[in-house]
Amino acid sequence: MSTVKSQIPQRIPLPRGQLLIDGRWRDAADGETRPTLDPTTEAPVTEVAQATAQDVNDAVAAARRAFEEGPWSRFHHEQRAKILFRVADLLDERAEEFALREAMDMGMPYRDFIDIIMPHCSGLFRFFGGLAMNAMDGGYRGSYEANLRILTRREPLGVVAAITPFNFPLALTCSKIAPALAAGNTVIHKPASDTPLSALALAQVMLDAGAPKGVYNLITGSGGVVGDLLVKHPEVDKIAFTGSTGVGQTIVRLGADTLKHTTMELGGKSPNIVFADANLEAAIQAAFWGIFWNKGEVCVAGSRLLVERPIYAEVVERLAAMAASATVGDPLDPNTMIGPIASRAEYEKVLGYIEVGQRSSARLVAGGGTRRLDGKGLFIEPTVFADASNDLKIAREEIFGPVLPVIAFDTEEDALRIANDTPYGLAAGIQTGDLGRALRLADRIKAGTVWLNTWHKYHPNAPFGGYKMSGFGREQGAEALQSYSQYKTVWANVG
Ligand code: NAP
Repeated sequence: MSTVKSQIPQRIPLPRGQLLIDGRWRDAADGETRPTLDPTTEAPVTEVAQATAQDVNDAVAAARRAFEEGPWSRFHHEQRAKILFRVADLLDERAEEFALREAMDMGMPYRDFIDIIMPHCSGLFRFFGGLAMNAMDGGYRGSYEANLRILTRREPLGVVAAITPFNFPLALTCSKIAPALAAGNTVIHKPASDTPLSALALAQVMLDAGAPKGVYNLITGSGGVVGDLLVKHPEVDKIAFTGSTGVGQTIVRLGADTLKHTTMELGGKSPNIVFADANLEAAIQAAFWGIFWNKGEVCVAGSRLLVERPIYAEVVERLAAMAASATVGDPLDPNTMIGPIASRAEYEKVLGYIEVGQRSSARLVAGGGTRRLDGKGLFIEPTVFADASNDLKIAREEIFGPVLPVIAFDTEEDALRIANDTPYGLAAGIQTGDLGRALRLADRIKAGTVWLNTWHKYHPNAPFGGYKMSGFGREQGAEALQSYSQYKTVWANVG
């Protein structure tokens, strides 16, 4: 049931964003700030502190001190869990505030945030709070000599820096910090420069939930300065990164000098395969929302649609009609399906790809243009290119916007070959009435997530991550908790 109120929420002015270091809000050492813009109105929402090297060093020192001196890292899991459960409750209580911030920051539809995103975020804290209570315990590995005992402990890594992208700012932060904190690490969060607003509210939630000082720190500022310093800092033990493949590669390279633990959640160009025996209505819905949810600014967007030849013309026609009639507009309006692109730079980039598509052999069958609301806004129409081939630039590169190339195929092998013909391996989908075929292809597709007769399903207990150039490591599930902890083996001579 939707909890959205019938009236449209109002934009409100927000206070200046500061840094949270060692339990205290403060401005950047040199007072520098950067405006963050609302992509619907193109007006500044507020100013946000831009951390200096001094601020980064202070945040790392605070996180290190909090880790070494406790009490967080030495708490029994149950004590940490209590705070994580409180975080979950506060997130739910403040869902409307967060929804407003993400709508004003990145154009995420308010309704989707309340209905889908926030339950997932609070669920992550409940899941990892609960999981840590049993999964973090070590074990007794036996007594192989009379006087010897082998014991294992699982310990946190230390200081974790979470570096997050502009899309799904809250969800992608929670999927890192919930397991990191549950395992007993301390955290420094660096959000994307274009979308820092929910990170500011989340840091306040951490304080209000009772996280001891230094356990959670927020550093806003540019990736090239703040991100780079965190990646190279010898006192940072792990970089949990979500973002583009190019920046991920840089981080792995730069982190090598201090042998950082890393998890890399990177880009994608995910194939969605529709067979002629699929439930067509459901398959078209999955194809539409697979690419156009959150205006295509989704790493696992179904951004290549592969359709079996006998139903190709019908699928293209129906998708084009849906795209043409989709409601593009203010993300605060509950009727909006497609909000604005998050930033001017992304807007220009996506329009550039549409131009490339128009000059290619593909055929534009829907969208391709922009919209304005009261003369403003970074709106791009949901765009469909039919008759695309997998070698076109629009089918090979991650556009990260509402643009869908549709490719015809003839056989199952053909579909599989095209699906796997990409450097990426984040997600894939198969829409078919033949369960045997669905499972057969799920085995052979090289992607970290495969959706059969559905798309965009997530759960805190479902591991999530990439194959190939889409990265390594897993978020969510017990696997995520593993990646924020390390084993210690204790040999005890009890003779
Ligand atoms: P991005 O440009 O790679 O930036 C991601 C984060 O890295 C931002 O906080 C950015 O800071 C920071 N950064 C930039 N340069 C850095 C450097 N040299 N050292 C350390 N940090 C640096 O990605 P984006 O454009 O925000 O996000 C879109 C990309 O993320 C897409 O490729 C998408 O597929 C991917 N993504 C992947 C997943 C997944 O789970 N696999 C989920 C969502 C998004 P600034 O903002 O200050 O530049």
